Amino acid sequence: MKRTLYWKFLLAYLIFAFFGFFVVANFVSGMTLDHLKKEKAESLYQEAVMIAGTYASELYDNRISLETAKNQLDALDIYLSSTIWIMNPSGRIVVDSKNPIDVDNQVVVEAFDPTVTGSTYYTVGTFFGMFNENMLSVFAPITSDYKVKGYVVILTPMSAIEQDSNSLLNISYLLLVILFLLSLIILIFFTEMVYLPLRKITRATEQYAGGNLNYQLSVDSEDEIGYLAASLSYMAEALAQGGENQKKLVANISHDFRSPLTSISGYVQAMLDGTIPPELHEKYLQIVLNETERLTKLTNNLLTLNNLNTEGMVLEKSTFDLNRVIKDTVATFEGICRERQLVIDLVLTGDSMLVTADLSKIQQVLYNLLDNAIKFSHHDSHIKIETTQKHNKVFISVKDNGIGIPKESLKFIWDRFYKTDLSRGKDKKGTGLGLSITKEIIRAHNENINVISTEGAGSEFIFSLPCVDMDED
Ligand code: ADP
Repeated sequence: MKRTLYWKFLLAYLIFAFFGFFVVANFVSGMTLDHLKKEKAESLYQEAVMIAGTYASELYDNRISLETAKNQLDALDIYLSSTIWIMNPSGRIVVDSKNPIDVDNQVVVEAFDPTVTGSTYYTVGTFFGMFNENMLSVFAPITSDYKVKGYVVILTPMSAIEQDSNSLLNISYLLLVILFLLSLIILIFFTEMVYLPLRKITRATEQYAGGNLNYQLSVDSEDEIGYLAASLSYMAEALAQGGENQKKLVANISHDFRSPLTSISGYVQAMLDGTIPPELHEKYLQIVLNETERLTKLTNNLLTLNNLNTEGMVLEKSTFDLNRVIKDTVATFEGICRERQLVIDLVLTGDSMLVTADLSKIQQVLYNLLDNAIKFSHHDSHIKIETTQKHNKVFISVKDNGIGIPKESLKFIWDRFYKTDLSRGKDKKGTGLGLSITKEIIRAHNENINVISTEGAGSEFIFSLPCVDMDED
């Protein structure tokens, strides 16, 4: 089995990690630097404005000496870790916090242009070629009598800000690594809750496909995966059971075919070799004929049952008079009833009872039920067929006073080939298929069939059919 799902998940994970680092390295670092730069520029600008409004303007108004101004700027230089200049509009530096006062050799910033900041209040660069590295610079004008007397310029190296930005970025990387390691928990969860159970399920399906339907699949989780595994085990169990039933069916069919065939070949053999004298041939040929009839009946029943199951039973529904069908079916049993002195009592509702169903299949149901009732009735007894209408249903009951069905056999009589021990003596021709066919037919009509029986007292089979409401027409 290829472990592709696992590798795919791992790959997705690595892609996530790669993009995480990529985004931090490219976008977050740029954003952090930008943010720090702006923040620094803003605070330096505040300072510059403050100096311009205090020491610088006091210097220009001659209220403090150059030395005093220089001392103040030096202190602020240490506090701000930046170079502070007071310069004339022409670019001449009057006070420089980094250098001592030298009135004779004042440095001039060539090409100084106070409008260089544009709409912002800072610039980044070598400050008109005065530095070798990039500097962040802000300047605030020193005004007096509505005139610009000079500028306070504060300069700080960009490398310091970059350093701050890098240490912040390192924290981001560290957080990312921690986050990545923590998210490994998801991988563990995925492995434990999805991947391993899925592997178990796949292994089980391979076993089932290979014919080992008894393979135990154990996934205990109560989630979708657990449900899938449980459904799969259930399916395998059902398949195994189906196979078992199939075997039973074949065994039953073989058994039911073998006994009549054995007796036919036995009698024919005995007739041929003279064990049965010719004057008794007729009697034994009659037995042989009975046995072949039984085989024909068995074959026909099997065919019917097979068709019912494979085709999902196609019903040819029509509306017919149920009373008429009951009477006709009863008529076919007249001979045997006379022979066994059985009386069939008909208690039918109405002159006619219109039902919508498959006529030939309902005929077969009635035939099977009546055939059983007659087979398992004692001589000289009564059988009652009764119809009762309730709402839009008609209930048909076929009741005999025969041998009845033992309580423990009741739930099996609908199974194929099932015959109660009691019935074996009375009915040698029975195939045990009649009631299973009957049940299939009634179920195909979406109706029900039930049995009430007492051993030794008799049985009553009741089934329902939809009747046509006469008022509707
Ligand atoms: P069969 O074709 O052998 O009659 P069925 O499927 O019709 O098979 O019936 C299954 C078994 O149910 C019968 O063999 C019999 O043991 C029992 N049974 C069915 N109908 C009756 C009945 N009216 N009285 C007693 N036993 C019955």
